[in-house]
Amino acid sequence: MTRTILITGGSRGIGRATAILCGARGWSVAINYHSDEGAAQETVAAVEAAGGKAFALAGDVAREADVAALFAQAADAFGPITGVVNNAGIVGAKSSVADLSVERMRGIFDTNILGAFLVAREAARLMPRSRGGVGGSIVNLSSRAAVLGSAGEYVDYAASKGAVDTLTTGLANELAGEGVRVNAVRPGLIETDIHASGGQPDRAARMGAATPMGRAGTAEEVAEAILWLLDDASSYVTGAFIDVSGGR
Ligand code: NAP
Repeated sequence: MTRTILITGGSRGIGRATAILCGARGWSVAINYHSDEGAAQETVAAVEAAGGKAFALAGDVAREADVAALFAQAADAFGPITGVVNNAGIVGAKSSVADLSVERMRGIFDTNILGAFLVAREAARLMPRSRGGVGGSIVNLSSRAAVLGSAGEYVDYAASKGAVDTLTTGLANELAGEGVRVNAVRPGLIETDIHASGGQPDRAARMGAATPMGRAGTAEEVAEAILWLLDDASSYVTGAFIDVSGGR
């Protein structure tokens, strides 16, 4: 069955790996990015090479108008949206709570909490059957940090993912009777560019070695869990959390 999937932050890392797996199923994928258009176009080409349809959409998830435009353009291009991967997220540089600036916390909370809520809200307006939607699946990208707390690194980031967990539980219960499932994936230490953006390019490899599995994970390993939650194979699963973290 053909599907239309919107992936926020789909141009790189976990979002890109998810887009390519969607393409391999023949699904249509709207790939949102923030600033790196070249990476987004590379992902579009990779999805098409895998067998799907794709196009790239610029937009900041923390801006209400951008989020509405993302959903509208995706539906215009490919038909009603049946899956949303609420994936865009950022980290900051390593810091204690005592040293966090207001600007830094606002930036993290704007993208990771307000952005996740704006995307979830738009999905909740468009996907429920009582609102004329066709139902489907929303997958939120949380983090094991939500549980572990990220002391001495970025408690603000960890707390933003705690909010994503609560959003997942609440929205899952709101939409369970509407044909819309809402779940979250909590990755552990995954090899992507996000660690370099926080000033620690070696973080996943270094800390991954100390996990029970003794290694970092890959974006593709996280994408497999997201695909299962997007697909009807998980039809009785809502409000659930899948930890993809090598036991950490
Ligand atoms: P990544 O490689 O840094 O990619 C981030 C993606 O988000 C990029 O496509 C980026 O677009 C986009 N983005 C950033 N800010 C945005 C905004 N305001 N609006 C729209 N798009 C925005 O990150 P990742 O490692 O794949 O992480 C994906 C998700 O998994 C995040 O929510 C992250 O917190 C979570 N996660 C990751 C790990 C890990 O170890 N990697 C662990 C736990 C949880 P541009 O390139 O155009 O800026």
